[in-house]
Amino acid sequence: KREITRLPSWLQTPIPGASPAYKKIKSDLRGLNLHTVCEEARCPNISDCWGGSDKSAATATIMLMGDTCTRGCRFCSVKTSRAPPPLDPHEPEHTAEALKRWGLGYVVLTSVDRDDLPDGGAAHFAQTIMKIKLKAPAMLVEALTGDYAGDLDMVQMVARSGLDVYAHNVETVEDLTPMVRDRRANFRQSLAVLQRAKDSKEGLITKTSIMVGLGETGEQLWETLKELRKVDVDVVTFGQYMQPTKRHMKVHEYVTPEDFELWRQRALDMGFLYCASGPLVRSSYKAGEAFIENVIK
Ligand code: SF4
Ligand code: SF4
Repeated sequence: KREITRLPSWLQTPIPGASPAYKKIKSDLRGLNLHTVCEEARCPNISDCWGGSDKSAATATIMLMGDTCTRGCRFCSVKTSRAPPPLDPHEPEHTAEALKRWGLGYVVLTSVDRDDLPDGGAAHFAQTIMKIKLKAPAMLVEALTGDYAGDLDMVQMVARSGLDVYAHNVETVEDLTPMVRDRRANFRQSLAVLQRAKDSKEGLITKTSIMVGLGETGEQLWETLKELRKVDVDVVTFGQYMQPTKRHMKVHEYVTPEDFELWRQRALDMGFLYCASGPLVRSSYKAGEAFIENVIK
């Protein structure tokens, strides 16, 4: 079997720690006590999400509900435990206050999956959104949630909490889902989550992300896009899967920038409102700018 050891040129990026945008995010965050995925994962897109002069379009991703997940997806490097520490009851208030002080345009809130909690953390998530909208009404809020183990009432609770975009990632095509995601996740359940979010609130934008390079075929990707359109998903993103450690799934192939562009075009032709697609794209990539350009204008 072919081992892929070297990264193609389009994935070789400068270390983000040295960039002016990274230094800026560091200094902005000092004292705010927020856990950004941008900073903690040293995301290579910080300059794109943060580099523009217009702070009202800047995007950051915040992690809620701790750093320990009850699931263990084979592509993800987050810590796993059956019994993570309890939620911090002050987190919704503190997060909203810190975001208000930060004055950013668009925030993506995400979290680990908390199958140990009766509501999967949905009330905590919804409360955080409500508090942000109270304290900083102009801030656009996207929630990137898990599947609440198929409890669609929990999805509805979050979808009706005042947010602007509801995101839930299918991550991969249906056939590869059992190999890629935790056994408690499944593709149909994720479609049901996206459908319920869409049906919960008029005008709510729904969004999902797909990692490529896991061994999926073009045909399977087509089918996936068709299924997503059937439940009226508005936004889709494509990014390259990168193996976080040797213990995680291997990369099957590195998709070229040209192919990412092809898939972006196809998605737009199929009626998606917008699509971010590229080797380094993550689900929150320039989400603020894209929302302002495609939804508000
Ligand atoms: Fe942050 Fe997401 Fe942008 Fe990376 S892609 S810098 S995690 S908002
Ligand atoms: Fe990672 Fe999310 Fe899977 Fe948990 S549910 S292991 S945070 S991808």
